[in-house]
Amino acid sequence: MPRYKIAIIGGGISGLAAAYHLKHARHEFKIFEAAHNVGGNVRTLPLDVGGTSRWVDLGVNDFNKNSYTNLMRVFTQLGVEYAPLEDTISYSNIGPTGELEKPLIGFTMDGRWGPKPPEGVVRGTNMFGDAIKKFISEPPPGSRYWTVGEFVKWAQFPQDFIRLSLYPRINAMYFAGNIKPSEMPARQVAHYYFLQEGYGTRTKAERQYWVGGATKWIDKLAAYLQKDLPQVIFKGVKAQFEITQDRRIIVYTTPAGAPPDTKPQQEIFDKLILAVQARTIENTYSRKEQIPGTVKQVGKAISYEEDEVVVHLSTANMPPDPNTWRTYNINIFPDQDKGQRYNINYWINRHQNDSKNPSYNCQSSEFREHTYTPQYFLSLNPLNPIPDICRLKSQPYGNCTMFKFYHCRLNMDATKAQDYLVPLMMKGIDNVYFTGGYTKGAGLHEECWISGTEVAKHALSPSHQDPHQYRMPTDSSDVDEHVSHIAPEYMLDLI
Ligand SMILES: Cc1cc2nc3c(=O)[nH]c(=O)nc-3n(C[C@H](O)[C@H](O)[C@H](O)COP(=O)(O)OP(=O)(O)OC[C@H]3O[C@@H](n4cnc5c(N)ncnc54)[C@H](O)[C@@H]3O)c2cc1C
Repeated sequence: MPRYKIAIIGGGISGLAAAYHLKHARHEFKIFEAAHNVGGNVRTLPLDVGGTSRWVDLGVNDFNKNSYTNLMRVFTQLGVEYAPLEDTISYSNIGPTGELEKPLIGFTMDGRWGPKPPEGVVRGTNMFGDAIKKFISEPPPGSRYWTVGEFVKWAQFPQDFIRLSLYPRINAMYFAGNIKPSEMPARQVAHYYFLQEGYGTRTKAERQYWVGGATKWIDKLAAYLQKDLPQVIFKGVKAQFEITQDRRIIVYTTPAGAPPDTKPQQEIFDKLILAVQARTIENTYSRKEQIPGTVKQVGKAISYEEDEVVVHLSTANMPPDPNTWRTYNINIFPDQDKGQRYNINYWINRHQNDSKNPSYNCQSSEFREHTYTPQYFLSLNPLNPIPDICRLKSQPYGNCTMFKFYHCRLNMDATKAQDYLVPLMMKGIDNVYFTGGYTKGAGLHEECWISGTEVAKHALSPSHQDPHQYRMPTDSSDVDEHVSHIAPEYMLDLI
């Protein structure tokens, strides 16, 4: 088998997954990452809260030990430390302006201290796993492009479950943005609940966080990739490329933030793995006439939203009764199906914490007796802006604890693009192979890992068949009626 020299543009989890496979297969590779750290949407900040050293994950923060089967093998190999996350939820209708809506709704799913969930919510939650399992393993005819609205009708969930739990949760998901919950693609939402939260799987989810933050695992991975090799990771480097007549790849690199007239460095590679978000793919082609039609179509089908996350000390986004505070505190809007910007608040002390941290035990079930320990929060897409004075600062990131990130909207267009266009890109066009969160499902860590690995396999062996790929229809009439499974194999294995 020939030995290839392969460039990877983008050092997020998808690009690093591709590099991991190339290292194992003993091919030469270089990763070019525009930011000053690899990890992309993985970002952990060290913090000083009331004189104690703490940390917070601003982006990727948890995983399900029982369904992230590919990543678990890597964590074991690299000795990555993780610990159980207290996976608890509260819902309340603290309003978009921070004022309380009337009547006041608020409950905690575990019902320990706060009000218990309404009967319909409990019943719906109990029905949910079976409905997801059935929908994934024996999809009803014609359900491939069902909306969530069609799914809930089929599953006959109680109205309270839909209104007070399911739709608020969907609103609070990073991939929903301002899509109406009832218009989300049912398959994508079902896959998210299945993979991340274990609904419909053989084993209940065991959600974990990375001890010390998600960046710790990325650091271990980066060190492993670099081990015993000349420099392979180039940070703070913006890359573009061009395809030569004989289909080789010239990669042009400039230091990120350099003036536009800076002369780029160039290097020739046999192949390229492009591991950037779909919204920036076209910018990486230095000759626009080389952008393939499929890539342009995907660029149109997959849209992104910019959102922000803030670490702070303000309780204004939290339910009024501290006894109801949970790991995830989710907003119930007056009209659940309007397609509001999502809003979720994490209570950090019950979540992104380190069991070795001296304040950890003070934050557990005896919370009421230990209110002196500093509480801090993370608001994703805060609806009522957090005053600057309440924001926590972190020195290494220029005193900034606000992170703007982009996430692709997981709407029906994106779903169809994943089914029909993205597989062509993953198999490679002109020796360029495409991976990234936008290529598989909700782009969860495990899905990115699978995508990056598959793309590396395609790059090394053009005849490689992707075992996780959705089945492609042979003609348009095939789409709804003859698709036997709506789930990729790696998900069916978990049922
Ligand atoms: C807020 C949030 C929370 C999430 N939480 C979880 C979670 O808890 N668990 C989970 O499993 N998943 C989670 N996800 C999903 C997560 O997005 C993916 O797991 C993953 O981080 C996406 O990785 P990626 O490599 O595809 O893209 P990215 O992380 O976006 O990486 C792309 C990289 O390419 C670089 N780049 C772009 N253009 C260039 C260029 N021209 N030259 C060089 N470099 C370039 C960028 O700087 C970036 O580092 C979350 C996502 C978000 C947005």
